[in-house]
Order: sequence, then C-alpha cells, then structure tokens
Amino acid sequence: MAKRKTLAANTVETRDVPTPPGYPSEVKILGQTYRIIYRTPLVFPDGSGLQGMVTGRDRTILIDPSLPPHMIRETILHEIAHVYLTHSGFESKYEKAKLVEIFCDMFGSAVDDLTQNNDWPTRR
Ligand SMILES: [Zn+2]
Repeated sequence: MAKRKTLAANTVETRDVPTPPGYPSEVKILGQTYRIIYRTPLVFPDGSGLQGMVTGRDRTILIDPSLPPHMIRETILHEIAHVYLTHSGFESKYEKAKLVEIFCDMFGSAVDDLTQNNDWPTRR
C-alpha cells in the first residue's frame, strides 16, 4: 500500500473510472493476472487516502488515477512489488515494518526510471 495524506471527510464517494490511455488494465505477475482498477478518490473507510493497494486474494490492484502520470506508474509498480515480496516470504516476515514500504517505493521508482529512460529489451 502506498500512503497518501489523510482526507478530511469520512463519507467520500468513490468511483471507478476507465483505464487511462496508456496505462494497463491488467498485469501478469508470476503467472497470475491481476486486474487494475482506477478508483478516485482511493480511501479507507475512515477517509484516509492512499495512492494504491493490492489484494492478493482477488488479484486486484487499486490505483488513484488523479495522481500525476509518473506517480501512477510508480504506484502500480509499488503494488506489484508487494506481490513479489509476499511471494518471496519477505513481506510476511516484516509485515508491519516500514521496510516493506520503503522497498516497494524503491522498486517502483527504480523500475520506472529504468524502463522510461532506456530502450529495455522485451522477451522474444
Ligand atoms: Zn505499499
């Protein structure tokens, strides 16, 4: 989960919007397809906001599409990093640690930087 500033109201109405042009509506991670839903604003029931979250059980990634473009990309990658960390066993070991969020932020910005600024080879 990528955190965001707390919103004032706790009765915020959210809505799902169409996949923004150029962004994925699904992503394959470790052979499993995860749906990406763009929801704005993205909030917890208590009204606190977040940039994104992933639920492994129903293989869904929620992203706030009101973020600037680079933050949408990085947040999607951040949530994907959670899946890899969970798969590796790292996330359950450090479940409450900020280390997980720091790592996911690093993964998101690193992969985005790498792929945005390089002609990255694709599998043939
Ligand atoms: Zn996170």
